[in-house]
Amino acid sequence: MACIFCEIIAGRVPGKIVYTSPDVTAFRDINPQAPTHVLIIPNRHIASALEIGASDAVLLGRLFEVANELARKEGIAEEGYRIVINVGPNGGQTVGHLHLHLLGGRRMTWPPG
Ligand code: AMP
Repeated sequence: MACIFCEIIAGRVPGKIVYTSPDVTAFRDINPQAPTHVLIIPNRHIASALEIGASDAVLLGRLFEVANELARKEGIAEEGYRIVINVGPNGGQTVGHLHLHLLGGRRMTWPPG
């Protein structure tokens, strides 16, 4: 079955893309949970954080580098924000392509739901 995030990267499914590069893409979440809600994903299909290993260190660094750049661009860097990775059914993961949620623009609560 086609991966919806791979389809967005390929341009076959529309997305509000805010960052593109050969290794990382970012786009706005279709169902935003905060004033800023961006998804940052590797262009290479990785099903979940459970698949990450030491050989992915550079890619992981890039995902956070892009998250930092976008947090500054979105104007949420100073007041703070949240980065979330949901893993598997109990973690609330609904799309099987690794993604960082960048959420900001409102006060977050803890513990998460
Ligand atoms: P998760 O539940 O952590 O797997 O996050 C998946 C996220 O992808 C959810 O917040 C969805 O709202 C979002 N999403 C699903 N389909 C799309 C899409 N076509 N474009 C943008 N965001 C999407």
